[in-house]
Amino acid sequence: MPSVVSDKCKKCLSCVEVCPVEAFKVNDAAPQVVVDPDVCIDCGVCISECPAEAITSDSAAQEKDIAYNAENAKKWA
Ligand code: SF4
Ligand code: SF4
Repeated sequence: MPSVVSDKCKKCLSCVEVCPVEAFKVNDAAPQVVVDPDVCIDCGVCISECPAEAITSDSAAQEKDIAYNAENAKKWA
């Protein structure tokens, strides 16, 4: 159950700093960060860290957000 970021993300980057496996991907041109579902180990640390409540497990996420995260995680460095 990897974590998924929604469009509520404010790009504060707090989650990027706490993730133990560098699962977050950032693109300067995009309005939000994303999680690579193949890297996330479902530790849950980022969910409580997010001030915008933008991160949920994929079981609670919208399909459009799951797709946005998965697709862009492979495109962004
Ligand atoms: S749940 Fe853990 S491993 Fe997955 S993105 Fe969040 S901090 Fe990283
Ligand atoms: S902590 Fe939340 S608001 Fe900040 S970059 Fe991560 S997902 Fe976006």
